[in-house]
Amino acid sequence: MTVRTRIAPSPTGDPHVGTAYVALFNLCFARQHGGQFILRIEDTDQARSTDESERDILDALRWLGLEWDEGPDVGGPHGPYRQSERKNDYRAYAEALVEKGHAFYCFRTPDELERIREERKAQGLNPGIKGDLELPDNEVKRRMTAGEPYVIRMKVPDEGVCVIDDMLRGQVEIDWQQVDCQILLKSDGMPTYHLANVVDDHLMAITHVLRGEEWINSAPKHQLLYAYFGWEMPVLCHLPLLRNPDKSKLSKRKNPTSINFYERMGFVPEAVLNYLGRMGWSMPDGREKFSLQEMIDSFDIQRVSLGGPVFDVEKLRWLNGLWLREDLDDQAFVERLQKWWFNRESLEALVPHIRGRAEVFSDVAPMASFMFSGILNLKPEDFAHNKLEEGGVKRVLQFALWKLEAERHWTKDAIFADVKGLAKSMGLKMGDFMFPIFVAIAGTPNSWSVMDSMALLGPDMTRARLRHALQVLGGFSKKETKRVEKEYAALGAD
Ligand code: GLU
Repeated sequence: MTVRTRIAPSPTGDPHVGTAYVALFNLCFARQHGGQFILRIEDTDQARSTDESERDILDALRWLGLEWDEGPDVGGPHGPYRQSERKNDYRAYAEALVEKGHAFYCFRTPDELERIREERKAQGLNPGIKGDLELPDNEVKRRMTAGEPYVIRMKVPDEGVCVIDDMLRGQVEIDWQQVDCQILLKSDGMPTYHLANVVDDHLMAITHVLRGEEWINSAPKHQLLYAYFGWEMPVLCHLPLLRNPDKSKLSKRKNPTSINFYERMGFVPEAVLNYLGRMGWSMPDGREKFSLQEMIDSFDIQRVSLGGPVFDVEKLRWLNGLWLREDLDDQAFVERLQKWWFNRESLEALVPHIRGRAEVFSDVAPMASFMFSGILNLKPEDFAHNKLEEGGVKRVLQFALWKLEAERHWTKDAIFADVKGLAKSMGLKMGDFMFPIFVAIAGTPNSWSVMDSMALLGPDMTRARLRHALQVLGGFSKKETKRVEKEYAALGAD
C-alpha cells in the first residue's frame, strides 16, 4: 500500500496557520512512509470561496516550503483537484445511496425543521433530524413533479454508539443520538463537505486522513458513508487544535492567524515551519530547532501529544532569531532582507510618498520607518484628541477593524470607500475619524495618506496594528463588546 495523505483547505479566507500546521504533519507522515501528499481545494461553498483565497493559500504553503505531489496547480492522475470542477459527479453518488435505501429526499424547509426540533424538545425527545422525516414514495414523487426544492440526506441510526478508531486517541465513542441525518446534496445540487470529502478521499486513494480535532464529530457520518458505499475507510487521525497562550482556540482576535502576517513581519519560513512542527510534536532528542527534512527523518505520529499546543508569537520570535543568527551568513541575510522589503518594487511603491517630503536622503528612514516595522510601540496618550473621547477613539478603531476585516479587495480605493462610509455613518468629520487610524498605522498623525500606507502595508499588518492600538487603549470588556457590536450593526456599515 502506498501511503497517501492530503490537505483539503476551503478557500474562504486568509491562509491560516492551522492549515499549514495540518499540511506539515500530513507531508511528514507521507514522506516518512515514502508516500504522496495531495492538495485538494474544497470549494463547494460557492458563496464564500474565492480565487484570491485559493491563490493565497497555495502561495503561503509554498512560501513555507511545503510541496505537494498532486494538486490543482501541479495536476496529477486523480484530478481535477478542485471540488467545484468535480461537482457533476457527486449527485450520482448521493442518488445511489437513495437507491440503496441509505439516504432520502427531504423537502422540509428550514422553518419546518426548526418547528419539528422545538416540538421534539418540548416533548423531551431528541431534537435531532432523523430518518423519520422521510416521506412515503408517492409523496416524494408528487413533490418532485411539482418542482419543489429538496435536499438528499443520509440516514443515521437513532440510537447506539458509534466507535471511531483514531491513530492518536484509540477508540472514540460518539452517541448516534447526537448525529443528524446529514445533508449530502444541497437544493442547488452542490454536495456538502461530508459527501464531497468522502467521495474524493476515496477516488483520490487517500489512505490516511490527518486533520484538525474539530472534525472528530463528523467522523461517524464519514464512517457510515464509507460503509454505505462499501469502500475501505482511510485511517483517521485528529490533530490537537492550536491554542492562544490563554489556552482558548487560536483566534485572530488574540493572535494573528494568517501566514501572510508572519511573512510581512519578516519571519523566515524555516522558523515558522519549525515552530509549527513543535505544535504537539517534539524531536526524539528534544532539540528545539530543526529543519523540515530533519523533522521528516525523525517523524513518528505517535509522538504527537494531545495537550492543546500553544501558538505563542513570542516563542516564534525567539526561534526566528535563532534561525537568523545561526543559519544565515551575512550574504544570505542581505539577500533575505532585500527580498523581504528592501527590494526595488517595494521601494518604488514608497517613493511617490517620500519624494514630496524629503529634503535629504537621510530624511527617508525616519519618515518611512513605520513601513519597515512590525507592531508599533504605542502609548495610550498618543491617541489623545480634542474632539474624540477615549470611547470614541476605541469605536473608530474597532469599527474600522471590523470593516477592513471584511474587505476582500485590498486597494487604496476600496479602503478609502470603507473608511469614508464609516465616518459618515458615525457622523464624524473625516479628519477626526482618521486621527486614531493614523496613529495606529503610522504611529503619528503627521504622515502621508494613511490609505496609501494601509494599501502598501497590506491587510494583515493593517489589521494587526488596528488590533494592537485597541489593546493599547485597553480594548472593550465582554459586556461592552456586545453593546459596541450592536452599535456597529445599527450603523448598517456591513
Ligand atoms: N475543507 C475542510 C477544511 O477546510 C477539510 C477538513 C478535512 O480535512 O476533512 O478544513
